[in-house]
Amino acid sequence: MHELSIAQNMLDIAQEIAEEQGLLRITQIHLRLGVLSGVVKEALFFAYDIVAQGTMAEASSLVIEEVPVVIFCPECQEERSLFRPIPMRCPVCQTKTADIRSGREIDIIAVEGV
Ligand SMILES: [Zn+2]
Repeated sequence: MHELSIAQNMLDIAQEIAEEQGLLRITQIHLRLGVLSGVVKEALFFAYDIVAQGTMAEASSLVIEEVPVVIFCPECQEERSLFRPIPMRCPVCQTKTADIRSGREIDIIAVEGV
């Protein structure tokens, strides 16, 4: 499962952050997840619970903030956010574009703990 390696990677990073902050236990990890990241949110929650077992993040929760796709519209000359990535076209003028500016990220934005 693809999400298992992502969860493991994420947990490793979160533990490093937690150690730098002098935390003994992680209670929450806040994550920004792009709509185009290819990650299934439910699968990530499931995978996270598995990899967190027996670590300082055991029983912690994952808080996911979904990030929309941002495209650049060549017609409007502006960036536009799409909460649904398909169809990939400007919501204002309907011009199709493949110029993706964001929406693929998997970023930890905060680690909380005690
Ligand atoms: Zn447009």
